Amino acid sequence: MVLKRTVLVVEDNEINREMLTAILSSEYKVLEAENGREALLLLEQYKEVISLVFLDIIMPVMDGYTFLSIMKSDPAYSSIPVIVITQSDAESDEMAALSHGAADFVVKPYQPQIILHRAANIINLRETAAVVNQIKYDRLTGLYSKEFFCQRAREILLRNPDKEYDIICSDIEHFKVYNDVFGVSAGDRLLRDAAKVLKQGVGSQGICGRLSGDQFVILIERGWIYSNEAFPGIMKEIAQIPHAKTVIVRWGVYSVTDRIVSIETMCDRALLAAASIKGQYGKYVAQYDEELWKKLLREQSITDEMEEALEKGQFEIYLQPKYTSGDKGMAGAEALVRWRHPQKGMQSPGLFIPVFEKNGFITRLDQYVWQKVCEILREWNRKGYPAVSVSVNVSRADIYNADLPDMLTSMVGMYGINPASLHLEITESAYTENPGQLIETVRCLRERGFVIEMDDFGSGYSSLNMLTNLPIDVLKLDMQFIRNETAKPEEQEILPFIISIARRLKLRVVAEGVETMEQFERVKKAGCDYVQGYFFAKPMPAGEFEKLMAEAGRMIGD
Ligand code: C2E
Ligand code: CA
Ligand code: CA
Repeated sequence: MVLKRTVLVVEDNEINREMLTAILSSEYKVLEAENGREALLLLEQYKEVISLVFLDIIMPVMDGYTFLSIMKSDPAYSSIPVIVITQSDAESDEMAALSHGAADFVVKPYQPQIILHRAANIINLRETAAVVNQIKYDRLTGLYSKEFFCQRAREILLRNPDKEYDIICSDIEHFKVYNDVFGVSAGDRLLRDAAKVLKQGVGSQGICGRLSGDQFVILIERGWIYSNEAFPGIMKEIAQIPHAKTVIVRWGVYSVTDRIVSIETMCDRALLAAASIKGQYGKYVAQYDEELWKKLLREQSITDEMEEALEKGQFEIYLQPKYTSGDKGMAGAEALVRWRHPQKGMQSPGLFIPVFEKNGFITRLDQYVWQKVCEILREWNRKGYPAVSVSVNVSRADIYNADLPDMLTSMVGMYGINPASLHLEITESAYTENPGQLIETVRCLRERGFVIEMDDFGSGYSSLNMLTNLPIDVLKLDMQFIRNETAKPEEQEILPFIISIARRLKLRVVAEGVETMEQFERVKKAGCDYVQGYFFAKPMPAGEFEKLMAEAGRMIGD
């Protein structure tokens, strides 16, 4: 059964009303009103279902034109078409009807076929227009839909070959989290309000569309300066939206240089630029360029090759010795990974670790490294070398894994290694990100006997105050920090000060990145317990380190 559409008949003359109702009833459900006021009440009640209104003009209480102008000025009803019933087909009547916003008119006396045809045509017209509008505009924000935006942008570029344009895409950081925390309707409101701000900001200089969920797009004539400061107005207004104070919007700009590229591709490039600054403090705008493209290709090839590289044993452990600063005796090593790539040669971790941190592979590589280090330690035990500790790097992603303490405990157990000989280096910045969970995990690891080192201390924002409450054993001073120390005489006091605090907290201190005699003298004088750096030795293959250790052992033994 086809659902009948609903038509409202507004006519004061009972006989006329019944006649019209009878004609329409064959095709429609009919609602009847005697005058404009009654009709408004029915409209209010049935606005969602009424497809068409037949309206008489001359009526008591509220006449047809008054009703029509009220109806057309209210957005809730204005899209419902109205057919006016006139006494004659005089041009003046027709003009009056159409000028008040009627879609069509019919003349008394009623001719059933004409009435039914006109009704069907008007309803059909309205429904087609509604579909077109739905495709043209995004329902939630009222911005152009992606398809329509692309079509309009293409037209604008074609029509204005001499003008220069940019495609700018925006992406709201952690929008999913916002939805989870404040609810979907708050999320919708954020998108609606942000779209409004965007549209106002762009004004008549460009067009705006919604690409998907939380991504918007603008085509704008070049002229704006896209620095971090170019969007403060828009950012400030977005911050006014409820709960949006901490919302961060990243913008990516693609300057239209090559008009043969599809608009969709231009949007992808702008989005790539926006994604490239995700999570970066204080950076809100990025420009797409060839460099970015190449970087993404490089990252992609690393991602494509990593699984195979792990399987084929292309990742190798290098060890960099650590010495006690007093007698320069060997005190252990840090394990640093290298990738022996079959075509590209030896790759340093700076090239691939950040990619693995992004794509999640880091947790697997780290476990591999820890296992290899355990193998090495077991081998040394077997050969009877004096107990030496090796520190390994632990990524923040590793710490979010609740099984980490169990996993490491069973690993050292399997290799028969004392957990105290496996030092875990956790970068300082991880401590400031999610201190609660991290501290919990680290406390647990310490209870199991592992030694915890805070890596890169001085590179981030952690305060000395914070140190008091952290379950750590060793403070590893960032090399940049030591470098600054050398450069600025006025900061010379900082190093001894930090070390005195570390002393009080019973933390041992390692200075890494020691490259010169001068730096060594200074960190030693300041009271650093251990040193590591090119001045003493670079990271080397495990075999070489073993030789060095054997010689040192012989020297001590001799
Ligand atoms: P890091 O943990 O801070 O490691 C110290 C880095 O400084 C190493 O670079 C080391 O070779 C380098 N270095 C040592 N002494 C000196 C010196 O005197 N001067 C200079 N300029 N540099 C020195 P590398 O091996 O390239 O590692 C870079 C970073 O990659 C490491 O920084 C660490 O964050 C990460 N990484 C390396 N291996 C692993 C791993 O197995 N797992 C994880 N998660 N990260 C790793
Ligand atoms: Ca380290
Ligand atoms: Ca470090």
